[in-house]
Order: sequence, then C-alpha cells, then structure tokens
Amino acid sequence: MGPPVQCRVAVKIQLPGKLEFQGILERKEAELVRGLSTRDGIAIEKSADQMDEIQYATERDLAIRNVDRESTLLRQVKAALQRVHERSFGDCIDCDGPISPKRLMALPWAARCIQCQERADREGQESAESGQAFDSAA
Ligand SMILES: [Zn+2]
Repeated sequence: MGPPVQCRVAVKIQLPGKLEFQGILERKEAELVRGLSTRDGIAIEKSADQMDEIQYATERDLAIRNVDRESTLLRQVKAALQRVHERSFGDCIDCDGPISPKRLMALPWAARCIQCQERADREGQESAESGQAFDSAA
C-alpha cells in the first residue's frame, strides 16, 4: 500500500486578481501624476492688498501640503507596482507575511501587514518621511 494521496490545497492562497490590483495601481498612478502636473503652476500671486496676500499664502500652503501628500502617495503606489513586477506584491515588506486581502482592497499600495504598519507608525513618528522634511538651516 502506497502512502495516501494527499490532495493539498496550495499553501499560499492567491490573492483575488493580482492583475486587478496592478490595474488599480496603474490608474491611481496616472491619476496622481496628472493631478501633480496640473498643479505645477501653483500661482504665486502678488497683490498689493495684504488680506489678499494672506489669503493667497494660505491657499498656497494648502496646495503645497496636498502636493506633499500626493507625492508620498505616488511614491507608495510606484513602490507597490514595483512589487507587482517583482511578484512580491501582497507580502509585508517587514515580516514577509501576507497582507490581508481586505487590507489590500482598501489600500492597494499598502506595503506592510496591519501589525507591522501599526508598529511602524508607533516607532516611526519622527523618522517617517514627513519628519525629515526640514533640515535645520542653522
Ligand atoms: Zn508584517
């Protein structure tokens, strides 16, 4: 008698439609690139009126913050696409564990599983990208 035939289900569960994620990411990338390029000309408007100046400065600040956020997002989307090409998409960059499909559905560019992300958020408040924006000029 031979060993019993085992009908194993693939250990690594395939994500539903990696190609779909690639499509989503590519669309997101295009959208962000478009959004960022149209905002290249954040008008630096000059006005003799001080109230206007303040108003413009506020709008400019807001626009710059948006661009900031979108650049960061674009970087994350690009990195996720890179992982699709390297076939590591869906794996956590920290622990190599699978990122839950639910999380990927909500955040296709997520690079970490929820546990690692939470830890990174806790530890990385200062070392996160946003925290290094300012070099002391002194
Ligand atoms: Zn992880």
